[in-house]
Amino acid sequence: MIFNDTLDGVKTYEAGKPIELVVREYGVDPKDIIKLASNENPYGTSPKVVKAVQNIAHKMFLYPDDSMYVLKEGLSKKFDVQEDELIIGAGSDQVIEFAVHSKLNSKTKVLMNSITFAMYEIYARHVGAQIIRTSSREHDLEEFYRLYLEHKPEIIFICTPNNPTGDAIDTKKLKDFLKKIDNNTLVVVDGAYMEYSAYKDPSKSVSAKELICEFSNVLYLGTFSKAYGLGGMRTGYGIANKGIIKAFYKLRPPFNITTLSLEAATVALSDEAFVQECIAKNFEQMKDYENFAKEMGLEIIDSYTNFVTLCLNDTQSSSEISLSLLKKGMIVRDLTGYNLNAIRVTVGTSAQNKRFFELFKDITHS
Ligand SMILES: *Cc1c(COP(=O)(O)O)cnc(C)c1O
Repeated sequence: MIFNDTLDGVKTYEAGKPIELVVREYGVDPKDIIKLASNENPYGTSPKVVKAVQNIAHKMFLYPDDSMYVLKEGLSKKFDVQEDELIIGAGSDQVIEFAVHSKLNSKTKVLMNSITFAMYEIYARHVGAQIIRTSSREHDLEEFYRLYLEHKPEIIFICTPNNPTGDAIDTKKLKDFLKKIDNNTLVVVDGAYMEYSAYKDPSKSVSAKELICEFSNVLYLGTFSKAYGLGGMRTGYGIANKGIIKAFYKLRPPFNITTLSLEAATVALSDEAFVQECIAKNFEQMKDYENFAKEMGLEIIDSYTNFVTLCLNDTQSSSEISLSLLKKGMIVRDLTGYNLNAIRVTVGTSAQNKRFFELFKDITHS
């Protein structure tokens, strides 16, 4: 069958391998499998959230509240924004999709970092937009500005802290950049890991409220999948000027968030103590990765997230090392597809991290 030719260049998103698949393919005992590949919260979900979801499970025969009133109220309080400045998506992925469909088509361009979150490109390709990338590993906003002047993209994606490298942009530099961008260019600031950078270094974190008050063309993205421990519930959000939100609502399928997800996200917002505790543990554990990298002579990118990126030596191959780790039940992310000889490892619990260090040493005989 012939499909739209825009699909020809689309590479299917490679999600971290699910545990079940490693069991089937490599015969690893499920209890020996450790997944540090998708930046999920290794401490799980707040027990309050689990309980709340169990308590409303009997309501799943009903369609969800499509106004999402309670969750929107929670988000509007947390971010100090109006409810018409908010949209909730099935993961912030879905809000990225709304952004792409609202601005891009085969005659337009989109600008993004050389190495960044894969979904920006995938959605842009769905509509045949031309993808322009910067050249440096970390966001270089001067290069972004030059390419903006040259190409006049409809959307600019800024991911801070960036996935899969973990680095974050200085807030002041980001705002100076945004001041130079015209009102008709949608700038997406993806803050999937902003809770982590806010904890580690406030000068590298940005408030959604400030962004949308100062810039009518900025869309801020947040998610419950990472720090809030709700990757399985597929809930994220966009915060922007109400004109942008109104346009996105035209693209939103009805009932895009399930009843259980709405409940989970709402209760997760009310248990900020759990989230802060997990973030504190994350940075405590991250020190072990920094020491490990030093010991092994590997470059580790300074991370403002819940993962670390270990750049391997020329004699090591990230795809071989990740495959060897996988066969032993350790799932990490190989970054070969991003043209980096590096692996991305979610910072796990102390026991998980120790296991990673052991296996890595075994495999590289060091
Ligand atoms: C995980 C992630 C998202 C989206 O996650 P959802 O689960 O779809 O909310 C968006 N951007 C980046 C950079 C991410 O790492």
